[in-house]
Amino acid sequence: MAQRRALPKICIALGLPDVPRLLEQARREAESGENFLEFRIDYLADPALGAKAITTFLEDYPNCTILATCRRHQNHGRFNGSIDDQLRILELAIQCGARAIDIEIETAELVPARCAQLRANAHLIISWHHFETTPPLEPVLKRMQKVPADIYKLVSTARKPSDTGRVLAASRLSPKIPLVTLAMGEIGFPTRVISPAFGTLFTYAAPAHVQGTASGQINARQLRSLYRIDKVTKAAKVYGVIADPVAHSVSPHVHNRAFQSKRMDAVYVPLLVNPNQLRDFFQFAEALPLSGFSVTIPHKRKIMRYLDHVDPLARRIGAVNTVWRKAGKWRGTNTDAEAVARPLAKLVDLAKATVLIAGNGGAAHSAACAISDAGAKIAITGRNQDRVRAFARTLSAENLTLAQACARQFDVVINATSVGMWPNVNDCLFPDKIPGEVVFDLVYNPLETELIRRARAQGKQVIPGVKMFLEQAVRQFEIWTGQPAPRAAMETAALDALSARYLEQKK
Ligand code: NAP
Repeated sequence: MAQRRALPKICIALGLPDVPRLLEQARREAESGENFLEFRIDYLADPALGAKAITTFLEDYPNCTILATCRRHQNHGRFNGSIDDQLRILELAIQCGARAIDIEIETAELVPARCAQLRANAHLIISWHHFETTPPLEPVLKRMQKVPADIYKLVSTARKPSDTGRVLAASRLSPKIPLVTLAMGEIGFPTRVISPAFGTLFTYAAPAHVQGTASGQINARQLRSLYRIDKVTKAAKVYGVIADPVAHSVSPHVHNRAFQSKRMDAVYVPLLVNPNQLRDFFQFAEALPLSGFSVTIPHKRKIMRYLDHVDPLARRIGAVNTVWRKAGKWRGTNTDAEAVARPLAKLVDLAKATVLIAGNGGAAHSAACAISDAGAKIAITGRNQDRVRAFARTLSAENLTLAQACARQFDVVINATSVGMWPNVNDCLFPDKIPGEVVFDLVYNPLETELIRRARAQGKQVIPGVKMFLEQAVRQFEIWTGQPAPRAAMETAALDALSARYLEQKK
């Protein structure tokens, strides 16, 4: 039997169409410090050449561990050959230095004796994949364990949050059963980050700069620096953000940086929840259990009916953006209101201020609640006078057309519309003189909006939307952890992530 040194925690899956590119990418990963690489030799026109490339690679990087996979096309791989050919190539890969091989269960259960022979010289990973959904996993595990192996790998596809929950629950069986469990697809993304902490022996990552071999994979640098998978333990508290879409949320950057800065055993993941999956999501949240989560579009209003307690402020605003669990009950509040009031209170005495709010959506409701509670005199404006009038009435505020608003002067102007947001970055609600001394633009994509740019040029004091974004996250952190938030670290993370996202959008 081969020497059983534990495998590293992150395996970079390399599926390249030819040997030169495979070797180039493998070298690049090794140079950046990765030491566990999967050679998908079934991706090559001649897989035997891929097996021989392992020797070439290991001559330069002897400390790397190579996992060789030559999955047959019948089993969703790319190898067109018989089982005999497949096993011969894997045997060659072991001779060439592969320390682990992956054989799909469909092959393994037909040739258990051959698998046992191969296992004498390498870690044998028996794998099972489901590319459509996540069926019950217990029968699958029973089936797989009939073939002795070093690791059983279960990879399904998450269609709903509770699928992700079941895959994570399975990962907790390790080390009773040596497992690698993952759920493919964006909904299953948390499994890629959390499974290793729960017991899974390793997780897969995409290579840097080229496409991964499965949907939902991110690269190793993100797994380590953003999600800290080397640091998070099985006792870690898990948080997240629910949204649809969620992929571009910068909240994971901000909250994970906060946990890192406070050296907390906690992780924050993006959770894709489709509009009709809130009930199923709570199943997942209870089972994990999730300690708390941020809520954003499109769930801020509908989430309220699933909570045990919603505080009066969130009820008045009509939206919850922060949920946490206390004594087994789900509680919700809204930190957006405070996130508007706090930065403003540093510049003006809100109790004596006149404030113009443009807009009548969710952000405008949060802003209006905070400002009216502080005692300010409010006027509402917007493009749809019926909606503006109805909103103003609920606040006993004045309602104005945009032209009327521009003819007046306020202490504060708040843009709570989406005007100026990416991609319409040249739009501005106030094309001429801005009718306020302090200008707060809630839009934070881009960081510097046209309104903020013009306000600066007109000598106004400005508050960019990122300040609100930061404040609402700071308050969330404090609610969840009971500790003061590391504001400076969170602000740097928000600015870095938003700048990077803006550059990405402009490409
Ligand atoms: P929402 O509920 O969809 O409301 C959008 C508002 O913008 C509505 O009042 C809409 O008016 C108005 N609007 C859209 N296009 C307009 C135009 N061309 N002219 C005039 N008004 C227009 O969105 P929301 O959640 O309130 O968000 C509004 C903005 O605030 C977004 O840019 C969002 O990113 C930002 N925001 C920032 C933070 C933060 O942390 N900084 C938090 C929440 C929101 P109609 O009713 O007439 O359509």
